[in-house]
Amino acid sequence: MGNLDGRVALITGAGSGIGRGTAIRLARDGANVCVVDIDEDGAAETASSVREFGRDAVVVRANVASKPQVQDAAERCVAELGGLDIAVANAGIARGGSVLDLELKDWQDQVDINLTGVFLTVQAAAQRMVQQGRGGRRPGGRIICISSLAALMAGAGTWGYSATKAGVQIMVRGWAQELGPHGITVNAIGPGVIDTPLAHGLAGDTGGPIRQALEQRTPVGRAGRPSDIAGLIAFLSGPDAEFMTGSYVLIDGGLRDARGPISMDASDPLVRERIGHMQSAAERRARLQPLIDER
Ligand code: NAD
Repeated sequence: MGNLDGRVALITGAGSGIGRGTAIRLARDGANVCVVDIDEDGAAETASSVREFGRDAVVVRANVASKPQVQDAAERCVAELGGLDIAVANAGIARGGSVLDLELKDWQDQVDINLTGVFLTVQAAAQRMVQQGRGGRRPGGRIICISSLAALMAGAGTWGYSATKAGVQIMVRGWAQELGPHGITVNAIGPGVIDTPLAHGLAGDTGGPIRQALEQRTPVGRAGRPSDIAGLIAFLSGPDAEFMTGSYVLIDGGLRDARGPISMDASDPLVRERIGHMQSAAERRARLQPLIDER
């Protein structure tokens, strides 16, 4: 018997990284999972892992920036898994650039996915949770939105990403006010650097010089893993978190207060590795961009 036996979770961006780790953890704790992503192959892989725990999984290809697609995902979750009790608004992208030349499209995509996408996901999920509550069939609901440590700080080139994540941090406080009377809690999580494809462009590979420098600076001595974040999401989804809503929970290994200067010297091996990672991040982005544009 798990904490989440019989519950149904909808997770966006569940085809990779934190979303995949969360799907696996919630399945381990007993939940059936609606795996939502623009990357159908990644989502299918996650769904297989969920089924290995004997849980049901439904894969929905949807862009969180599209209201009809998000509504369809929530509809299929209810129709095929029998309800919607937990929603994790996790899908996100990072588009850096200077204020002098950041492309409007990069700004817009980041806002559409990280901010509007979270709003559309929460709206679609909350509407169904309220309906379920009125029917007296299922009690309450749990909504968890993935913000970032970046919500608390801004740097050169990352201020746009930070703005979207700070937006998520404040939106959950309003939603907690509106949805509390329906028995629905809404919280935000602020991960630090977590070992996923999104972080590789910024924080290097495990064992590489950038990652080592970062780990030395982090009080717990390592970067985060998707399972670290998934554990917190499992707690917020479970019975012990009933009294918690409107909160922002930082989970960063202590990195917020431990940042050192970042070298910009091109002869520095750290900087060279960083440039290499930015290139591989650019290749991944080129693969995902056509999927983002299809809406
Ligand atoms: P990731 O790139 O590994 O996974 C993101 C997933 O979202 C991918 O499967 C991608 O296909 C999907 N996605 C992207 N745009 C989408 C869209 N429009 N619609 C549906 N799916 C979409 O990244 P991750 O690190 O697991 O990031 C998950 C969340 O955690 C993001 O919101 C990110 O901003 C946040 N976060 C990550 C870190 C980190 O260090 N990795 C730190 C703080 C916050």
